[in-house]
Amino acid sequence: MIPYGKQDINQADIDAVVSVLKSDFLTQGPQVPAFEKALANICQAKFAVATSNATSSLHIANLALGVGQGDIVWTSPITFVATSNSALYCGANVDFVDIDLHSGNMSIDALKEKLKISKQNNCLPKVVIPVHIAGQSCQMQEIHHLAQEYGFSIIEDASHAVGGQYQNSPVGSCTFSDITIFSFHPVKIITTAEGGMALTNDTKLAKKMKCLRSHGIVSDQEQMHEPSHGPWYYQQIDLGFNYRMTELQAALGLSQLNRINTFITRRNQLAKNYDQAFIDDKLTVLKASENTLSAYHLYLILLPETKGEEKEEKHKQAIIQLRKNNIFAHVHYIPVHLQPFYNKLGFRKGDFPNAETYYSRVISLPLYPELTTKEQKHIIEQVKALR
Ligand SMILES: *Cc1c(COP(=O)(O)O)cnc(C)c1O
Repeated sequence: MIPYGKQDINQADIDAVVSVLKSDFLTQGPQVPAFEKALANICQAKFAVATSNATSSLHIANLALGVGQGDIVWTSPITFVATSNSALYCGANVDFVDIDLHSGNMSIDALKEKLKISKQNNCLPKVVIPVHIAGQSCQMQEIHHLAQEYGFSIIEDASHAVGGQYQNSPVGSCTFSDITIFSFHPVKIITTAEGGMALTNDTKLAKKMKCLRSHGIVSDQEQMHEPSHGPWYYQQIDLGFNYRMTELQAALGLSQLNRINTFITRRNQLAKNYDQAFIDDKLTVLKASENTLSAYHLYLILLPETKGEEKEEKHKQAIIQLRKNNIFAHVHYIPVHLQPFYNKLGFRKGDFPNAETYYSRVISLPLYPELTTKEQKHIIEQVKALR
């Protein structure tokens, strides 16, 4: 079976992890700060805070921005559940902004409209979390303008987009946001097995996230509420968590970073092959817009529009057909508002029509650096054979 995504691990990665195993520190040593510094440099951001996964990064990002009981957080319905869950962890109320069908990203028009209405009803969001679906940045400058007009903060969920660019700047530079989150799950662009990172240019936010990642504890005198008792001393100043990344993970991440450009180039090449192959077909491919370089975490196609009941069946049959032919086609994502847990919160079918149309048509085709030309040919043939 050709998977939809897969990690790329070489001997250098293995050596990096083994050398940590033989070293003094398995956690809280030099690798994590080195990985943070390297990624912050690549992204041209001031600070980076590594965590156990992107979900924990999202959680402490929300908390650092002050999200709490009764606050409102908006995101896209086309994302992994972790994005919206992270706001629920803080006691916030979540709502969604429908997507733009051409990009799969949060629609700027829908966002504008929803902000206008919410201002009248006095229920503006505290934080908006745009999600860079498939690795293509959202139109961050527009979202940033709206943030200034309506006074909300921005967390970019760039779980798919490390290595990508927006307006010739690296995703993660936080030029148009408060915090950017990356995921290093094995299917993503670079991996640490489990792992995440929160980037920011704001000293206070960085300090707060570092503190929350490790039990709310500080050992820096400057942040303490009373003078230190001595060299052993630390203080708990907040209710934090154990969301730390291990040294093994950071060493793997550092080693993977050496190949991030190779990965992005290869992913873009494979995406271009798909684009060219499907140019005359009735499929819609979700293309990168001109001012972005997609990291191409996913290659997404939309099946031709069909009406009524038939469309769900056609979509399902297409995926079954591809899997029968050894292609592990997938769906990213089931709209979050349609999940039973979110139904309990009051969301209903019909709430976000574009997201639902997208869900009835979208297929993720295999895309990862080691995908061979031969495998890709097979995938293209099978997609073209779909009826
Ligand atoms: C993978 C992913 C997450 C969660 O990442 P983890 O590192 O697995 O916690 C969050 N948001 C999006 C959009 C993702 O794709």
